[in-house]
Parts: sequence; structure tokens; C-alpha cells
Amino acid sequence: MTDCDAEIRFKLPLSPEEESALAQEREDDHFHDECGVFGIHGHEEAAHITYLGLYALQHRGQESCGIVASNGREHTAHRAMGLVADTFGSKTLSRLKGRHAIGHVRYSTAGESLLRNAQPICANTDGGPVAIAHNGNLVNAVAIRRELEGRGAIFGSTSDSEAILHLLARSREQSIEDRFIDAISRVKGAFSLVLLTDDGMIAARDPSGFRPLSLGRLDGAWVVASETCALDLIGAKFERDVDPGEVVVIRRGRLRSLRPMARVEGERFCIFEYIYFARPDSNLMNHNVYAFRKELGRTLARESPIAADMVVPVLDSGTAAALGYAEEEGIPYETALIRNHYVRRTFIEPAQSIRNFGVKVKHNAIRSFLEGKRIVLVDDSIVRGTTLVKIVAMLRSAGAREVHVRISSPPSIGPCHYGIDTPTQEELIASNHSREQIQEIIGADSLSYLSLTGLRRSAEHELKRGICDGCFSGEYPIPVDIDREAPQLSLFRAIEDEPEPS
Ligand code: AMP
Repeated sequence: MTDCDAEIRFKLPLSPEEESALAQEREDDHFHDECGVFGIHGHEEAAHITYLGLYALQHRGQESCGIVASNGREHTAHRAMGLVADTFGSKTLSRLKGRHAIGHVRYSTAGESLLRNAQPICANTDGGPVAIAHNGNLVNAVAIRRELEGRGAIFGSTSDSEAILHLLARSREQSIEDRFIDAISRVKGAFSLVLLTDDGMIAARDPSGFRPLSLGRLDGAWVVASETCALDLIGAKFERDVDPGEVVVIRRGRLRSLRPMARVEGERFCIFEYIYFARPDSNLMNHNVYAFRKELGRTLARESPIAADMVVPVLDSGTAAALGYAEEEGIPYETALIRNHYVRRTFIEPAQSIRNFGVKVKHNAIRSFLEGKRIVLVDDSIVRGTTLVKIVAMLRSAGAREVHVRISSPPSIGPCHYGIDTPTQEELIASNHSREQIQEIIGADSLSYLSLTGLRRSAEHELKRGICDGCFSGEYPIPVDIDREAPQLSLFRAIEDEPEPS
């Protein structure tokens, strides 16, 4: 039995605004996921530990979160819009019974905030209850969805992850792991997955290994988490990463490793996880994120030195690279731009006007440090350019004599199709402006990006594994057969977050 707390009510017909919001969601939602996953098998406090794991992974998604627990027979689930700390209290956690649990945090930019897209997604199959938590984007989900809907499948969400559950439910294989393997061998793209069955947990990474997934141990229990910072918080010991193409089956305290997916193309770990997305205290593939960011700052300094009085980071994204830059150049590092930590990421705001406002709310310059100084301003990336326009102007109005912008990644020229939220190509400032034009737009005295060659060399030298840098190079390792037409979705709208009509 699956008891998902998410109650879906139906509302038809839709108003023109609702129609257009839904149409936008159909278009956009599919390609805009950033997520974190967590799972624990064989622990007395499974739901509580999962809550803590998600707490540590909150940076990977702030829109919705969920936990599903299993007592070996039944699943209980709670999913909600909002942050982990606001969603789960001790009462809710105590209702999530059992020694096994998985959890998920999710963020999507476009369309409405939708509870029906919250994960883990739960279902009853003839093989028992299953719940799935997915990080990454599938590139053939629309085609699979069409095919399944053509054969009568009814989807309850607009999320591509649901296709995996449908494939699993329809598989003719016998065991749940074989059905799962059957399902994931049909999907293409990026997936780090955790599946909860009645008494077992299965974790898997796609053959390219786009997204991270680590294995740990806690008091004899097995733990899987998107990042090692979640293992650190719960005091779990890091065991190893799940390999690209590996399926790990955990049941009755034992772990079995299966390698059903041939690694034809080689590993393509997402370099943007290192540049921006992952927490700096995490180790991805045994390499610390903070250390790599610092190294990129050093490489940037060697490529684009400049005479200056101080290196200032854009907090927090530019911190490690700015330190690396400052160390390499021998220029003092100062956090002369302070960040208000109680403001949500400006990127999340949907309207341009709010985003601009958000930058001002978020950062403030310390005039006494900046007056008359030549500043090197370091950030990890430029997306639309909005942040830097405001920050450069802010530094100047605080008295900075020169502002030289240094970016510790190459120009972002293309969207990510594998699970990092990026705006459309047209909105990416570097996709339609030259470096000189961007320098002028942001009002900097000079602007330099890390070169693609520099990034690739650092990755080769430091990480020693294949990377995906499609957002910088336009070279996408898995062809993106995006069907631009929106999938046929059931026309309903979840209104559980709205007050009851009087
Ligand atoms: P923008 O103002 O649009 O140029 O955004 C640049 C800022 O967004 C930088 O400080 C980046 O660290 C940050 N950033 C880059 N990629 C993302 C992303 N996928 N989600 C949220 N923030 C991002």
C-alpha cells in the first residue's frame, strides 16, 4: 500500500491564465530540474536520518521535498512544497515508519510550483509499492511518455522521472531489480536514481555518470546521497561512489553490484557540479569541490593576470576561485562585498524586475575598503549578466577606481540538458554577445573568462576523468532529441496549497 500525503484535487475548466501557465510548464518544466537524492536502508531512524540528509542537500533544490519510508511491507510518504526544515516536523517524521527511507529535494524554475511534481514519486505495482527519487534529466522522456500514453498510461505529474516508474511497472521481467534495469535501459540522459521497494533499496547512475551519487555506511546501514556533505552531517562513513552505469541492490543488509549498462561513451561527469552546483565541502568522485574551484581560480590568474589592489569574491559562488586567484597573483583577498544570507537565490525569482531588485537586497559593498582601489571581482559564472551589472555598479558607487571581472569558467553558451537549471540559449548573455560586448554591458574595465582549454586541462590534471562541458562548448555527449512539442498531459491542476473556497 502506498499512502502519499499529496492529495490531488481536480479543477476544470481552466482559466486562460491557468491554461497559459500550464502550457508554459509543459514547455519548460521538463528541462529544468535540479535535484538532490538520499536513501538509507536498515536503520531504526530511517526517516529522521533522511530528513537530515536532505537538509544537507537543500542547495540542490528548494522548491519541494519529500520522504518515503518503508516498514518492509508498506510505504508512507510525505511530500510538500518548500524547504526541508519547514516541511518536516517531529510529528510528520514519526509517521514515516520503517527502517528504510528515501528522500528528494527539487527545484524547477518555470511554470507553477507544483506539488504533483514533488518527489519521491510513489506507485503500487503488482510487485509491491515502489518509490523513486531522481536527479538528472532524461532526453527521451517526451517520446517515451507519448508512447506510454498511446498505450493507455496515465501520468500524474509533468516530471520526466515518472516515465521510469511506468516502464518499471510494465516490464515483463520477474524481480524488481530486473524490472528496474529493464526500465532504465530504455531511458537516455542523466540519472542518479534511488528506488525504494518494500524491503530493498536500489541505486543507479547512468552510463555517462553525469550526476553524482555516493555510498556510505552508518551503524551498519547503507546510505546513498547525491553529495558527501550529506554523509558528513549524519556521521556516515564514505564507502565509494556508485560507478557510471552501475546498479547497486541493497537488501537484508547486503549490497550487490550489477553492471547491466555497457559504458560505450565513457564517463561524462558534469563539470558544472564542480564549478557552481555542489557544496564546496563535498567530495565528488573523491575530489574536493572547494579545492577544484580554487585551482580554477589559480588557472584563471595565470591566464588573465591584472595589476590590482585587492581580489573581491562574489559571495558565495566566487569565494574559492577568488582565493585561488589571489594566492596565485599575490594580491590581498578581501570580502569587501557582503552578502545577506537570508535572501533566496536571485536566480529563483521569475520576473526580471524582481531579479534586479534581488541583487541589491542580496549584496552590499564596504565603501571604506573599496574607495580608490583597483578591484579584481571574481565569480564562477555569468548566466544572464544581471548580477554583475548591479555589482559592478555597486562597487563603483562605493568608490572603486577600477573593476576587473574574472570568471572561473568559460562563457556559458548553451543550456544544460542533463539536469542543471539554465535559462534558454537566448537568455544566456554569452550565447549572443562577444566578450567585449559583455564587458561593456556589465560596465567592467576588463573582463576575462577561464578558457575552455584551461578548464579541460584542469579537469584532466586534477579530476582524471571524462567530463561533460556542453554548457560551455556546445558539445553534448548524448544527442538531445528534444521534441519541442509539449507532451500530452492530463489537464488538471493541484490546488492543495490554496485555501479552501468559502
Ligand atoms: P546572472 O546574474 O544571471 O548572470 O547569474 C550569475 C550568478 O548566478 C552567478 O553568481 C552564479 O554563481 C549563479 N548561477 C550560475 N548558474 C546557476 C544556476 N544554475 N542556478 C542558480 N544560480 C546560478
